[in-house]
Amino acid sequence: MPTISDSRTSSKRRKKRWKNPLGLDASQKRRFQTRLLKWYKKYGRDLPWRKTSDPYHILVSEVMLQQTQVDRVIPKYQEFLDRYPSFEELADAPVSDVKKTWYPLGYNIRPERLHGIACETVERYGGRLPSDAEELLSFKGIGRYTAGAIRSFAFNEDAPILDTNVSRVIHRVFMAKGNPKTQKPKLWQLSEALIPRGKGYDFNQAIMDFGATCCTARNPSCRKCPMKSFCRSYPFEHKSRKVAVRHEGR
Ligand code: SF4
Repeated sequence: MPTISDSRTSSKRRKKRWKNPLGLDASQKRRFQTRLLKWYKKYGRDLPWRKTSDPYHILVSEVMLQQTQVDRVIPKYQEFLDRYPSFEELADAPVSDVKKTWYPLGYNIRPERLHGIACETVERYGGRLPSDAEELLSFKGIGRYTAGAIRSFAFNEDAPILDTNVSRVIHRVFMAKGNPKTQKPKLWQLSEALIPRGKGYDFNQAIMDFGATCCTARNPSCRKCPMKSFCRSYPFEHKSRKVAVRHEGR
């Protein structure tokens, strides 16, 4: 028969679970936030779109970065903004010209979408991109990631983002089980829960850089990683490397 102390303990457990449905340990969360921001101060990349909070500039950089490496985006970003400095100028340009300016970035649906967003911004919002999540998501070509990036990088809101790099980092540090591609809802929730209040801009930039340069897909720098003491995947080994090691051992 359960005693009074048993039922108190289970009620405490229930309370804890209810308050923390993601299973996020508070001290682990704090350590992750502090260490990530410290790491970013030292190793964060100096990128041109981090020198502005203009929503148009942020949108252009985000659309360019969707399928293209940072190094290839940098020169094109500046060229594109010189040619089309505002939503109005982009909306007025023929789509064929916009595609030519976009070349050789590829995935030509992107300049078309960007042009469409510019037309809609001018028509519906007088040339000013809204900051509201629902309104941003109502644009054709703005998905959940881009809406979060615009809200945090242009409007300084604590809005979550989730791209491949962010998914990988959060999944490795806090989950480590299953395939990140099939766990998007939980990863989105964690991405939001991890943002330190008022620091969405730096935190989101930091986690993207961390995924791009430290916790990389194939050869993450686990040995010198600031998260290694609590990362659930430490030391991470890519599957193909494990197989290689097994073969060598025979
Ligand atoms: S310890 Fe390795 S897997 Fe974990 S966050 Fe660091 S680099 Fe990524």
